[in-house]
Amino acid sequence: MATMVPKKVIVKKGYSLTLSGEPSATLQKASNPETVGVLPSEIPFIKPKALVKEGDAVHIGTPLFLDKHDPRVQFLSPAAGVVDRVVLGERRRLEEIVVRVAAEEKAVSFQKYEATAIATTPREQLVAALLERGVWPLLRERPFGRIPSPDVVPPSVYVSLDAEDAFLPQSQVVLDGNEAYLRAGIAALGVLTSGSVSVALHASSAILKTSLKDVVTHQISGDTTANSPEVFHYHAKQSAAENTAWTLGASEVIRLGESLLEGQYPVRQVITVSGIMTSSNGHFLTRVGAPVALFLKEASAARYVAGSVMTGRKVSHSGYLGLDEAALVALPEGREQQFLSFVQPGFDKYSFSKAFLSALLPKKAWTLPTTVNGSHRACIECGACVEVCPVDLLPQLILKQVEANDQEESIALGMLDCTACGLCTYVCPSKIEVADTITEAKNKVFKELRS
Ligand code: SF4
Ligand code: SF4
Repeated sequence: MATMVPKKVIVKKGYSLTLSGEPSATLQKASNPETVGVLPSEIPFIKPKALVKEGDAVHIGTPLFLDKHDPRVQFLSPAAGVVDRVVLGERRRLEEIVVRVAAEEKAVSFQKYEATAIATTPREQLVAALLERGVWPLLRERPFGRIPSPDVVPPSVYVSLDAEDAFLPQSQVVLDGNEAYLRAGIAALGVLTSGSVSVALHASSAILKTSLKDVVTHQISGDTTANSPEVFHYHAKQSAAENTAWTLGASEVIRLGESLLEGQYPVRQVITVSGIMTSSNGHFLTRVGAPVALFLKEASAARYVAGSVMTGRKVSHSGYLGLDEAALVALPEGREQQFLSFVQPGFDKYSFSKAFLSALLPKKAWTLPTTVNGSHRACIECGACVEVCPVDLLPQLILKQVEANDQEESIALGMLDCTACGLCTYVCPSKIEVADTITEAKNKVFKELRS
Protein backbone atom coordinates (compact mmCIF):
# COMPACT_ATOMS: atom_id res chain seq x y z
CA MET A 1 0.00 0.00 0.00
CA ALA A 2 1.34 3.48 -0.90
CA THR A 3 2.33 5.66 2.06
CA MET A 4 -0.07 8.55 2.56
CA VAL A 5 1.60 11.97 2.34
CA PRO A 6 0.09 14.29 4.95
CA LYS A 7 -1.43 17.48 3.61
CA LYS A 8 0.17 20.69 4.81
CA VAL A 9 -1.83 23.18 6.85
CA ILE A 10 -0.14 26.52 7.36
CA VAL A 11 -1.55 28.73 10.09
CA LYS A 12 -0.03 32.15 9.67
CA LYS A 13 -1.45 33.87 12.74
CA GLY A 14 -1.25 32.93 16.39
CA TYR A 15 1.17 33.50 19.18
CA SER A 16 3.50 31.34 21.26
CA LEU A 17 4.31 33.00 24.53
CA THR A 18 7.22 31.63 26.54
CA LEU A 19 6.29 31.64 30.21
CA SER A 20 8.27 30.50 33.23
CA GLY A 21 7.40 27.22 34.91
CA GLU A 22 6.51 24.97 31.97
CA PRO A 23 5.93 21.31 32.96
CA SER A 24 8.78 18.89 32.39
CA ALA A 25 8.18 15.91 30.11
CA THR A 26 8.67 13.33 32.88
CA LEU A 27 5.59 11.25 33.71
CA GLN A 28 4.96 10.49 37.37
CA LYS A 29 2.22 8.29 38.78
CA ALA A 30 0.05 10.30 41.14
CA SER A 31 -1.05 8.71 44.40
CA ASN A 32 -4.64 7.49 44.62
CA PRO A 33 -6.92 10.35 45.69
CA GLU A 34 -9.14 10.05 48.78
CA THR A 35 -11.97 11.75 46.91
CA VAL A 36 -12.82 12.58 43.31
CA GLY A 37 -15.23 15.23 42.08
CA VAL A 38 -17.32 15.77 38.97
CA LEU A 39 -18.45 19.29 38.06
CA PRO A 40 -21.72 19.29 36.07
CA SER A 41 -21.99 23.10 36.15
CA GLU A 42 -18.71 23.42 34.22
CA ILE A 43 -20.02 21.44 31.23
CA PRO A 44 -21.44 23.83 28.64
CA PHE A 45 -25.03 23.63 27.37
CA ILE A 46 -26.20 20.71 29.54
CA LYS A 47 -28.99 20.72 32.12
CA PRO A 48 -27.69 18.29 34.75
CA LYS A 49 -29.90 16.05 36.86
CA ALA A 50 -28.35 14.01 39.68
CA LEU A 51 -28.91 10.27 39.63
CA VAL A 52 -27.36 9.63 43.05
CA LYS A 53 -27.72 11.01 46.54
CA GLU A 54 -25.33 11.34 49.46
CA GLY A 55 -24.48 7.97 50.98
CA ASP A 56 -25.11 5.94 47.81
CA ALA A 57 -22.53 3.30 46.96
CA VAL A 58 -21.13 3.57 43.43
CA HIS A 59 -18.75 1.62 41.18
CA ILE A 60 -16.39 3.07 38.57
CA GLY A 61 -18.85 3.59 35.71
CA THR A 62 -22.04 4.08 37.74
CA PRO A 63 -24.07 7.00 36.24
CA LEU A 64 -23.84 10.05 38.56
CA PHE A 65 -25.92 12.52 36.52
CA LEU A 66 -27.49 12.99 33.12
CA ASP A 67 -28.34 15.81 30.75
CA LYS A 68 -32.08 16.59 30.99
CA HIS A 69 -31.97 17.85 27.38
CA ASP A 70 -31.07 14.31 26.33
CA PRO A 71 -31.16 11.70 29.12
CA ARG A 72 -29.15 9.28 26.97
CA VAL A 73 -26.09 11.45 27.69
CA GLN A 74 -24.90 10.27 31.10
CA PHE A 75 -21.82 11.08 33.14
CA LEU A 76 -20.24 8.21 35.03
CA SER A 77 -18.38 7.92 38.30
CA PRO A 78 -14.58 7.99 37.94
CA ALA A 79 -14.20 6.08 41.23
CA ALA A 80 -15.83 3.37 43.32
CA GLY A 81 -16.89 4.26 46.84
CA VAL A 82 -19.60 6.29 48.51
CA VAL A 83 -21.17 9.57 47.35
CA ASP A 84 -19.85 12.05 49.90
CA ARG A 85 -21.46 15.28 48.69
CA VAL A 86 -24.05 16.42 46.16
CA VAL A 87 -23.61 20.19 45.99
CA LEU A 88 -26.41 22.39 44.65
CA GLY A 89 -25.89 26.03 43.72
CA GLU A 90 -28.24 28.86 42.83
CA ARG A 91 -31.73 27.73 41.75
CA ARG A 92 -30.73 24.22 42.87
CA ARG A 93 -28.39 23.84 39.90
CA LEU A 94 -26.20 20.78 40.32
CA GLU A 95 -22.65 22.05 40.93
CA GLU A 96 -20.56 19.16 42.15
CA ILE A 97 -20.73 15.49 43.11
CA VAL A 98 -17.91 14.17 45.29
CA VAL A 99 -17.19 10.46 45.72
CA ARG A 100 -15.10 9.13 48.62
CA VAL A 101 -12.87 6.50 47.05
CA ALA A 102 -13.03 2.95 48.48
CA ALA A 103 -9.86 1.04 49.38
CA GLU A 104 -10.86 -1.64 46.91
CA GLU A 105 -12.70 -0.48 43.84
CA LYS A 106 -15.10 -2.29 41.54
CA ALA A 107 -15.94 -1.21 37.98
CA VAL A 108 -19.06 -1.69 35.86
CA SER A 109 -18.22 -3.97 32.92
CA PHE A 110 -19.39 -3.54 29.34
CA GLN A 111 -18.91 -5.61 26.22
CA LYS A 112 -15.29 -5.59 24.98
CA TYR A 113 -14.66 -4.96 21.28
CA GLU A 114 -11.89 -6.47 19.20
CA ALA A 115 -9.80 -3.73 17.59
CA THR A 116 -10.39 -5.19 14.14
CA ALA A 117 -14.18 -5.31 14.66
CA ILE A 118 -14.72 -1.63 15.46
CA ALA A 119 -14.62 -0.32 11.88
CA THR A 120 -17.37 -2.73 10.81
CA THR A 121 -19.63 -2.25 13.84
CA PRO A 122 -23.02 -0.79 12.86
CA ARG A 123 -23.15 2.94 13.72
CA GLU A 124 -26.23 2.63 15.94
CA GLN A 125 -24.55 -0.07 18.02
CA LEU A 126 -21.39 1.98 18.39
CA VAL A 127 -23.32 5.09 19.46
CA ALA A 128 -25.09 3.03 22.13
CA ALA A 129 -21.75 1.57 23.28
CA LEU A 130 -20.12 5.00 23.66
CA LEU A 131 -23.16 6.36 25.49
CA GLU A 132 -23.33 3.50 28.00
CA ARG A 133 -19.62 3.66 28.83
CA GLY A 134 -19.78 7.40 29.46
CA VAL A 135 -17.40 8.63 26.75
CA TRP A 136 -19.98 10.35 24.50
CA PRO A 137 -19.48 13.62 26.47
CA LEU A 138 -15.86 13.70 25.23
CA LEU A 139 -17.12 14.58 21.74
CA ARG A 140 -17.44 18.24 20.73
CA GLU A 141 -19.39 19.74 17.85
CA ARG A 142 -18.45 22.93 16.01
CA PRO A 143 -19.15 25.77 16.04
CA PHE A 144 -20.47 25.93 19.60
CA GLY A 145 -18.37 23.26 21.29
CA ARG A 146 -21.38 21.44 22.64
CA ILE A 147 -21.65 17.70 23.27
CA PRO A 148 -23.34 16.52 20.05
CA SER A 149 -26.72 14.85 19.97
CA PRO A 150 -26.45 11.06 19.51
CA ASP A 151 -28.92 11.45 16.63
CA VAL A 152 -26.62 13.73 14.60
CA VAL A 153 -24.19 12.31 12.06
CA PRO A 154 -21.21 14.68 11.74
CA PRO A 155 -20.00 15.62 8.24
CA SER A 156 -16.38 14.99 9.32
CA VAL A 157 -14.13 14.75 12.37
CA TYR A 158 -10.93 16.69 13.08
CA VAL A 159 -8.40 15.40 15.60
CA SER A 160 -5.25 17.23 16.66
CA LEU A 161 -2.71 15.11 18.52
CA ASP A 162 -0.49 17.97 19.69
CA ALA A 163 -1.08 20.36 22.58
CA GLU A 164 -2.02 23.96 21.82
CA ASP A 165 0.20 25.39 24.52
CA ALA A 166 3.29 24.31 26.41
CA PHE A 167 1.40 23.97 29.71
CA LEU A 168 -0.94 21.24 28.45
CA PRO A 169 0.02 17.53 28.29
CA GLN A 170 2.47 16.99 25.44
CA SER A 171 1.65 14.47 22.74
CA GLN A 172 4.73 12.31 23.19
CA VAL A 173 3.74 11.70 26.83
CA VAL A 174 0.00 11.28 26.20
CA LEU A 175 0.44 8.89 23.27
CA ASP A 176 3.20 6.78 24.81
CA GLY A 177 1.83 3.26 25.37
CA ASN A 178 -1.63 4.23 24.11
CA GLU A 179 -1.21 3.60 20.40
CA ALA A 180 -3.77 0.74 20.30
CA TYR A 181 -6.38 2.88 22.07
CA LEU A 182 -5.72 5.80 19.73
CA ARG A 183 -6.16 3.60 16.66
CA ALA A 184 -9.36 2.10 18.10
CA GLY A 185 -10.70 5.60 18.82
CA ILE A 186 -9.95 6.76 15.28
CA ALA A 187 -11.68 3.65 13.90
CA ALA A 188 -14.76 4.42 16.01
CA LEU A 189 -14.86 8.03 14.80
CA GLY A 190 -14.71 6.70 11.22
CA VAL A 191 -17.92 4.78 11.89
CA LEU A 192 -19.65 7.76 13.50
CA THR A 193 -19.06 10.26 10.67
CA SER A 194 -20.47 10.32 7.16
CA GLY A 195 -17.20 11.89 5.98
CA SER A 196 -13.54 11.52 6.86
CA VAL A 197 -11.50 11.59 10.06
CA SER A 198 -8.57 14.00 9.70
CA VAL A 199 -5.68 13.66 12.14
CA ALA A 200 -3.05 16.37 12.53
CA LEU A 201 0.37 16.69 14.09
CA HIS A 202 2.61 19.71 14.18
CA ALA A 203 5.25 19.56 11.43
CA SER A 204 7.97 19.60 14.10
CA SER A 205 6.55 16.61 16.03
CA ALA A 206 8.89 13.70 16.68
CA ILE A 207 5.88 11.38 16.44
CA LEU A 208 5.99 11.85 12.68
CA LYS A 209 9.03 9.56 12.81
CA THR A 210 7.28 6.79 14.78
CA SER A 211 4.93 3.95 13.85
CA LEU A 212 2.00 6.29 14.45
CA LYS A 213 2.83 8.38 11.41
CA ASP A 214 0.43 6.36 9.28
CA VAL A 215 -2.62 7.79 11.10
CA VAL A 216 -1.55 11.38 10.36
CA THR A 217 -3.42 13.02 7.48
CA HIS A 218 -2.27 16.63 8.02
CA GLN A 219 0.91 18.40 9.16
CA ILE A 220 0.41 21.76 10.80
CA SER A 221 2.88 24.64 10.64
CA GLY A 222 2.50 27.69 12.84
CA ASP A 223 2.61 28.74 16.49
CA THR A 224 1.41 26.25 19.11
CA THR A 225 -2.13 27.67 19.00
CA ALA A 226 -2.36 26.16 15.52
CA ASN A 227 -2.47 22.71 17.19
CA SER A 228 -5.93 23.37 18.59
CA PRO A 229 -8.41 20.91 16.99
CA GLU A 230 -10.72 23.85 16.28
CA VAL A 231 -8.01 25.88 14.52
CA PHE A 232 -7.03 22.78 12.54
CA HIS A 233 -10.68 22.31 11.53
CA TYR A 234 -10.99 25.94 10.44
CA HIS A 235 -7.97 25.76 8.14
CA ALA A 236 -8.46 22.23 6.80
CA LYS A 237 -12.22 22.08 6.17
CA GLN A 238 -13.20 21.96 2.54
CA SER A 239 -16.67 23.53 2.60
CA ALA A 240 -19.32 25.18 4.75
CA ALA A 241 -20.99 21.77 5.04
CA GLU A 242 -18.20 20.89 7.48
CA ASN A 243 -18.98 23.78 9.82
CA THR A 244 -20.65 21.32 12.19
CA ALA A 245 -17.74 18.84 12.23
CA TRP A 246 -16.62 17.27 15.50
CA THR A 247 -13.24 18.18 17.03
CA LEU A 248 -11.16 16.22 19.53
CA GLY A 249 -7.69 16.05 21.08
CA ALA A 250 -5.45 13.01 21.57
CA SER A 251 -6.62 12.21 25.14
CA GLU A 252 -10.26 12.12 24.12
CA VAL A 253 -9.63 9.77 21.18
CA ILE A 254 -7.53 7.50 23.41
CA ARG A 255 -10.33 7.32 25.97
CA LEU A 256 -12.92 6.48 23.30
CA GLY A 257 -10.75 3.60 22.10
CA GLU A 258 -9.91 2.41 25.61
CA SER A 259 -13.60 2.26 26.56
CA LEU A 260 -14.27 -0.08 23.63
CA LEU A 261 -11.21 -2.33 23.93
CA GLU A 262 -11.36 -2.65 27.73
CA GLY A 263 -15.15 -2.62 28.17
CA GLN A 264 -14.97 -0.04 30.97
CA TYR A 265 -15.41 3.65 31.65
CA PRO A 266 -11.80 4.85 31.16
CA VAL A 267 -10.68 6.92 34.13
CA ARG A 268 -6.93 7.20 33.54
CA GLN A 269 -5.83 10.68 32.56
CA VAL A 270 -2.50 12.41 31.99
CA ILE A 271 -2.40 15.94 33.39
CA THR A 272 0.31 18.55 33.79
CA VAL A 273 1.14 20.48 36.93
CA SER A 274 3.22 23.61 36.46
CA GLY A 275 3.72 27.30 37.12
CA ILE A 276 6.25 29.15 39.21
CA MET A 277 4.14 29.05 42.39
CA THR A 278 4.45 25.31 42.92
CA SER A 279 7.28 22.88 43.56
CA SER A 280 5.29 20.13 41.80
CA ASN A 281 6.10 20.09 38.13
CA GLY A 282 5.65 17.63 35.31
CA HIS A 283 3.16 15.23 33.78
CA PHE A 284 1.13 13.05 36.15
CA LEU A 285 -0.85 9.91 35.45
CA THR A 286 -3.97 10.32 37.53
CA ARG A 287 -7.69 9.84 37.15
CA VAL A 288 -10.62 11.90 35.92
CA GLY A 289 -11.96 14.25 38.61
CA ALA A 290 -8.71 14.36 40.61
CA PRO A 291 -8.54 16.86 43.49
CA VAL A 292 -6.29 19.92 43.17
CA ALA A 293 -4.79 19.25 46.62
CA LEU A 294 -3.35 15.95 45.37
CA PHE A 295 -0.82 17.91 43.31
CA LEU A 296 -0.40 21.34 44.85
CA LYS A 297 0.68 22.20 48.36
CA GLU A 298 -1.10 25.33 49.60
CA ALA A 299 0.83 28.42 48.48
CA SER A 300 -0.34 31.67 49.99
CA ALA A 301 0.12 33.96 46.99
CA ALA A 302 -0.90 31.56 44.22
CA ARG A 303 -3.80 31.49 41.85
CA TYR A 304 -4.61 28.00 40.63
CA VAL A 305 -5.87 27.70 37.08
CA ALA A 306 -7.41 24.47 35.81
CA GLY A 307 -7.27 23.90 32.06
CA SER A 308 -5.37 26.08 29.60
CA VAL A 309 -3.12 28.80 30.99
CA MET A 310 -4.82 31.22 28.55
CA THR A 311 -8.47 30.33 29.05
CA GLY A 312 -8.56 28.16 32.15
CA ARG A 313 -10.83 28.34 35.16
CA LYS A 314 -9.79 29.67 38.55
CA VAL A 315 -10.00 26.77 40.98
CA SER A 316 -9.59 26.63 44.73
CA HIS A 317 -7.13 24.40 46.53
CA SER A 318 -10.06 22.26 47.70
CA GLY A 319 -11.50 21.96 44.16
CA TYR A 320 -11.38 19.29 41.48
CA LEU A 321 -10.36 19.08 37.83
CA GLY A 322 -13.26 19.20 35.38
CA LEU A 323 -14.03 16.79 32.57
CA ASP A 324 -12.01 18.70 29.94
CA GLU A 325 -9.26 19.98 32.22
CA ALA A 326 -5.86 18.34 31.86
CA ALA A 327 -3.62 21.02 33.37
CA LEU A 328 -3.13 22.76 36.70
CA VAL A 329 -1.08 25.94 36.74
CA ALA A 330 -0.08 27.91 39.84
CA LEU A 331 0.41 31.58 38.95
CA PRO A 332 1.33 34.51 41.17
CA GLU A 333 -1.81 36.30 42.27
CA GLY A 334 -1.69 39.90 40.99
CA ARG A 335 -2.95 41.85 43.91
CA GLU A 336 -2.31 45.45 42.94
CA GLN A 337 -4.15 47.14 40.14
CA GLN A 338 -1.45 48.86 38.14
CA PHE A 339 -3.36 51.70 36.55
CA LEU A 340 -2.19 52.36 32.98
CA SER A 341 0.81 50.15 33.56
CA PHE A 342 0.83 49.24 29.89
CA VAL A 343 2.22 52.64 29.01
CA GLN A 344 4.96 52.52 31.62
CA PRO A 345 8.09 51.25 29.86
CA GLY A 346 10.31 48.73 31.56
CA PHE A 347 12.17 45.47 31.13
CA ASP A 348 10.06 43.61 33.68
CA LYS A 349 6.71 43.72 31.94
CA TYR A 350 5.65 41.33 29.23
CA SER A 351 4.62 43.17 26.06
CA PHE A 352 2.98 42.09 22.84
CA SER A 353 2.73 45.59 21.45
CA LYS A 354 6.40 46.46 21.83
CA ALA A 355 5.38 49.36 24.11
CA PHE A 356 7.89 48.03 26.65
CA LEU A 357 11.62 47.56 26.30
CA SER A 358 10.90 43.92 27.08
CA ALA A 359 10.02 43.54 23.42
CA LEU A 360 13.76 43.66 22.79
CA LEU A 361 14.19 40.48 24.84
CA PRO A 362 11.88 38.07 23.04
CA LYS A 363 13.56 34.92 24.37
CA LYS A 364 13.07 35.73 28.03
CA ALA A 365 10.65 33.37 29.82
CA TRP A 366 8.10 35.66 31.44
CA THR A 367 6.36 35.31 34.76
CA LEU A 368 2.70 35.93 34.11
CA PRO A 369 0.73 37.37 37.04
CA THR A 370 -3.05 37.40 37.05
CA THR A 371 -3.49 41.13 37.36
CA VAL A 372 -5.25 42.91 34.49
CA ASN A 373 -2.89 45.90 34.78
CA GLY A 374 -5.49 48.59 35.30
CA SER A 375 -9.19 49.23 34.92
CA HIS A 376 -11.24 48.70 31.77
CA ARG A 377 -10.32 50.91 28.83
CA ALA A 378 -11.86 51.44 25.43
CA CYS A 379 -10.64 49.78 22.24
CA ILE A 380 -7.84 51.88 20.78
CA GLU A 381 -7.99 50.12 17.37
CA CYS A 382 -4.40 48.93 17.75
CA GLY A 383 -5.04 45.76 15.74
CA ALA A 384 -3.10 43.49 18.11
CA CYS A 385 -6.04 41.09 18.35
CA VAL A 386 -6.22 40.87 14.55
CA GLU A 387 -2.54 40.03 14.34
CA VAL A 388 -2.85 36.99 16.62
CA CYS A 389 -6.28 35.56 15.84
CA PRO A 390 -5.50 32.04 14.51
CA VAL A 391 -8.76 31.86 12.54
CA ASP A 392 -8.30 35.20 10.76
CA LEU A 393 -11.09 37.11 12.47
CA LEU A 394 -11.27 40.83 13.16
CA PRO A 395 -12.09 40.48 16.86
CA GLN A 396 -12.40 44.21 17.51
CA LEU A 397 -15.05 44.59 14.80
CA ILE A 398 -17.00 41.58 16.08
CA LEU A 399 -16.76 43.07 19.56
CA LYS A 400 -18.35 46.29 18.34
CA GLN A 401 -21.23 44.45 16.69
CA VAL A 402 -21.77 42.30 19.78
CA GLU A 403 -21.84 45.43 21.95
CA ALA A 404 -24.33 46.97 19.49
CA ASN A 405 -26.41 43.78 19.83
CA ASP A 406 -26.21 43.17 16.08
CA GLN A 407 -26.19 39.38 15.99
CA GLU A 408 -26.59 39.14 12.24
CA GLU A 409 -23.57 41.33 11.54
CA SER A 410 -21.47 39.54 14.21
CA ILE A 411 -22.18 36.23 12.49
CA ALA A 412 -21.47 37.74 9.08
CA LEU A 413 -18.06 38.79 10.43
CA GLY A 414 -17.32 35.13 11.28
CA MET A 415 -18.06 35.20 15.01
CA LEU A 416 -19.05 31.52 14.99
CA ASP A 417 -15.54 30.55 13.83
CA CYS A 418 -14.05 31.87 17.07
CA THR A 419 -12.27 29.04 18.89
CA ALA A 420 -12.21 30.82 22.26
CA CYS A 421 -8.41 30.58 22.30
CA GLY A 422 -8.18 33.73 24.42
CA LEU A 423 -5.25 35.24 22.50
CA CYS A 424 -7.13 38.43 21.64
CA THR A 425 -7.85 39.09 25.31
CA TYR A 426 -4.28 38.27 26.19
CA VAL A 427 -2.66 40.76 23.82
CA CYS A 428 -5.24 43.53 24.18
CA PRO A 429 -3.51 46.58 25.71
CA SER A 430 -6.90 47.90 26.84
CA LYS A 431 -7.45 44.61 28.69
CA ILE A 432 -10.84 44.14 27.10
CA GLU A 433 -12.31 40.68 27.67
CA VAL A 434 -12.65 40.17 23.92
CA ALA A 435 -12.72 36.37 23.92
CA ASP A 436 -15.24 36.07 26.78
CA THR A 437 -17.52 38.64 25.16
CA ILE A 438 -17.48 36.77 21.86
CA THR A 439 -18.00 33.40 23.58
CA GLU A 440 -21.00 34.77 25.50
CA ALA A 441 -22.47 36.12 22.25
CA LYS A 442 -21.97 32.70 20.59
CA ASN A 443 -23.63 30.95 23.53
CA LYS A 444 -26.59 33.31 23.17
CA VAL A 445 -26.92 32.34 19.50
CA PHE A 446 -26.87 28.65 20.47
CA LYS A 447 -29.57 29.12 23.13
CA GLU A 448 -31.77 30.99 20.65
CA LEU A 449 -31.31 28.26 18.05
CA ARG A 450 -32.22 25.58 20.60
CA SER A 451 -35.31 27.33 21.96
S1 SF4 B 1 -10.66 34.09 21.09
FE1 SF4 B 1 -11.66 34.00 19.09
S2 SF4 B 1 -11.49 36.07 18.27
FE2 SF4 B 1 -10.03 35.90 19.95
S3 SF4 B 1 -8.09 35.36 18.97
FE3 SF4 B 1 -9.08 33.45 19.61
S4 SF4 B 1 -10.27 32.78 17.85
FE4 SF4 B 1 -9.73 34.93 17.48
S1 SF4 C 1 -6.32 44.44 20.88
FE1 SF4 C 1 -7.87 45.46 22.13
S2 SF4 C 1 -7.51 47.66 21.81
FE2 SF4 C 1 -6.41 46.59 20.16
S3 SF4 C 1 -7.90 46.51 18.47
FE3 SF4 C 1 -8.15 44.61 19.61
S4 SF4 C 1 -9.79 45.05 21.08
FE4 SF4 C 1 -9.05 47.05 20.32
